[in-house]
Amino acid sequence: MSKLPEVRYWSKEFETIDRPSLKKLQVKRLKETVSCALKTSFYKARLKKAGINGPEDIKTLDDLEKIPFTTKDDLRECYPGGLLSVSLEEVVRIHTSSGTTGTPTVIYHTGADVDRWTDLVARSITATGAGRKDIFQNMMSYGMFTGGLGLHYGAERVGMTVIPIGGGNTRRQIQLMHDFKTTVLHITPSYMLHIHSKTGECGFSVNDLNLRKAYLGAEPYSENTRRKVESLFNIDVYNSYGLSEMNGPGVAFECVYKCGMHTWEDAYILEITDPKTRESLGPEKEGEIVFTTLTRKATPLLRYRTRDLAFVHGGECRCKRTHRRLSRITGRTDDMLIVNGVNVYPSQIEEVIMRVPQVGNNYQICLEKEGTLDKLIVKVEIYSKMFRGDLGEIEILKEKIKTELRAAIVINAVIELHEPGVLPVFEGKAKRVIDTRQKL
Ligand code: AMP
Ligand code: ZN
Repeated sequence: MSKLPEVRYWSKEFETIDRPSLKKLQVKRLKETVSCALKTSFYKARLKKAGINGPEDIKTLDDLEKIPFTTKDDLRECYPGGLLSVSLEEVVRIHTSSGTTGTPTVIYHTGADVDRWTDLVARSITATGAGRKDIFQNMMSYGMFTGGLGLHYGAERVGMTVIPIGGGNTRRQIQLMHDFKTTVLHITPSYMLHIHSKTGECGFSVNDLNLRKAYLGAEPYSENTRRKVESLFNIDVYNSYGLSEMNGPGVAFECVYKCGMHTWEDAYILEITDPKTRESLGPEKEGEIVFTTLTRKATPLLRYRTRDLAFVHGGECRCKRTHRRLSRITGRTDDMLIVNGVNVYPSQIEEVIMRVPQVGNNYQICLEKEGTLDKLIVKVEIYSKMFRGDLGEIEILKEKIKTELRAAIVINAVIELHEPGVLPVFEGKAKRVIDTRQKL
C-alpha cells in the first residue's frame, strides 16, 4: 500500500475552489436547475405551491429550504416521462432503477448530461491516484444499472485501458486479471470477497496478480470489510458512492487519503437532514442524505431524499479539495430491522463479524418468527481449516461472535458457522437479509 500519497487533480480549479465561490456557483446553478424543473408539470405544480415561480425566487442557498423534498414515490408516480424537462430528441440515454421494490424510476440524460457525468467520474478516478497507465477491469454490470457504464466512460476519459467485462463469470474475471495485469478494479465488496475465495481454485495466488486499487461501492460495507479486502489483496480500497437518481457513480469518491468521500458539490447540493424532523444537520451528525442536481438538464431533481444515512466529516482534507466529505453509508432509512423492538442496521452486524479474524468472505442475516418473538440468525462462513481442527474451537468462536454482537446491538442472535461456499453469492448488489417474519 502506498505510504506517501501523491495528490492529482482532474479539474483543479473546481476541485479546490474556495467555499464562498463554490456557494456562488451553486446558487447560479440552482437557479438554472429550477428553470429546468419548471418545464415539467410535476415541479411546476410543486414549486408554484411553494411560492417559487421562476429562478428569480432563488437568491441565496437559504432559499433551498422553500423547495419541497422529492421522494422515490414521486419519481415512481412520474413514470415514465413526467420528469423529463427537455424534448425527447435531446435525450441520448435512459437509465431506470431495477424496479424490484415497485415501479422503476427513470432518469433521462442529454449528451451534455452524460458528458458532465463522465467528467465527475474522471475526476473521482484521478483523485484516487489512478490514470493512463492503469488497466481497469470493470466488474460492475453494464445495462440499466449505472455502475457499469458510469465508470466505463470516466475511465476511458482518463485514458485508462478498460476491460469492460461486467459482473459475473468469476473464473474468467480472475484469468483476465492475471493475463492483462489488471491494476484497478470496480466491484461490489461482496463480490470482491468472493473473488478472493476463488483465486486459489483458479490456480492463482494474490501475488500472481498486479492489483493496486479497487473501487468498492453500490452496497453498504463496513470499515472492517475495507481493511479485510486491503489486507487480503494487499491493495488500496476506495469507497465509491452514487445512485441512479444522481446519475450513478461519481457523486462522492474517496481521495488518496481515504478519509471520507468528497461529494462533488459543484454538481450536487448535499444536505444531511433529520429523517423525522427534516431539520438540516451540521457536521458529524448522522441523518438522511438529500441531493439536488445542479448540472443535469434532462431530469433535474430538487432535494431528493435518498434514504441513505451518513454524516459529513468536519475539518479539511489534506488533499486540499474543498468539497465536503461524506462518511461511509451506515444504512438506509428503509433497511432498519426491528428485532423484538430493538432497532438494528445490517451494517452494525457486519461491522462486528468482519473484525473476527476466523471469519471468511460471506455472511447472511435471517429473521424468523419463533412463536410471538423475532429470532435473529446470523450465518457466517469461516475458513475451512477451522472445521478440520478441534470442534470445541468452533463452539468457542460461536460464543465469541454472539457475545460481541450482543455488546454491539443488544440482541441475542443465533450464530451459525458454515464452511466456505455454502451461502449464496451475488455478482451484483448482495442481498444479505432474509426476513420471513411478515409471511407468517
Ligand atoms: P442504484 O440507484 O441502483 O445505483 O443504487 C444506489 C444505492 O446503492 C444508494 O442509494 C445506496 O443505498 C447504495 N450504495 C451505492 N454506493 C454505496 C456505497 N459506497 N456504500 C453504501 N451504499 C452504497
Ligand atoms: Zn481529500
